[in-house]
Amino acid sequence: MGIAAERIERLEALARDAVDEGHEDRAREYVRLARRIAERNRLTLPRTFRRFTCDACDAYLRPGRNARVRLQDGHVVVRCDCGEIARYPYE
Ligand SMILES: [Zn+2]
Repeated sequence: MGIAAERIERLEALARDAVDEGHEDRAREYVRLARRIAERNRLTLPRTFRRFTCDACDAYLRPGRNARVRLQDGHVVVRCDCGEIARYPYE
């Protein structure tokens, strides 16, 4: 794994911890930074990152804290507190 990929992984962990500690804006900064690194290095963001970040407000989503997750028709439906809803096939 390259340095960029390692930084992204680390930023994801930092974002998760920041939300758990109530620092959601700080988590957004980590999310945005990780996205910029991925873009600059033409990397695909890890699946957990894509699933647990909000495309609308860049929040790092922690179900039960700032997101609601439910199953519907074979899909996982993730709703951010900002109102954005994302659906993924259930696997
Ligand atoms: Zn959101």
